Amino acid sequence: MSLSYELYDVVQMKKPHACGENRWWIIRMGMDIRLKCLGCQHSVLLPRAKCDRAIRKILEHREGNHVD
Ligand SMILES: [Zn+2]
Repeated sequence: MSLSYELYDVVQMKKPHACGENRWWIIRMGMDIRLKCLGCQHSVLLPRAKCDRAIRKILEHREGNHVD
């Protein structure tokens, strides 16, 4: 299965973050993908292949004007 997630999509991860949230927001796309946890605002940089495996599904598209 290949996921066609895009910049500013909110995605559901297979495993919840340490804070208990499993929704992350894609805030940068490139060779690596930067995701921000919607629970605790922590952000991580993942290689695309790893990101593909970690995402369960795409939930929504959210406009990118809330990045702090
Ligand atoms: Zn978190």
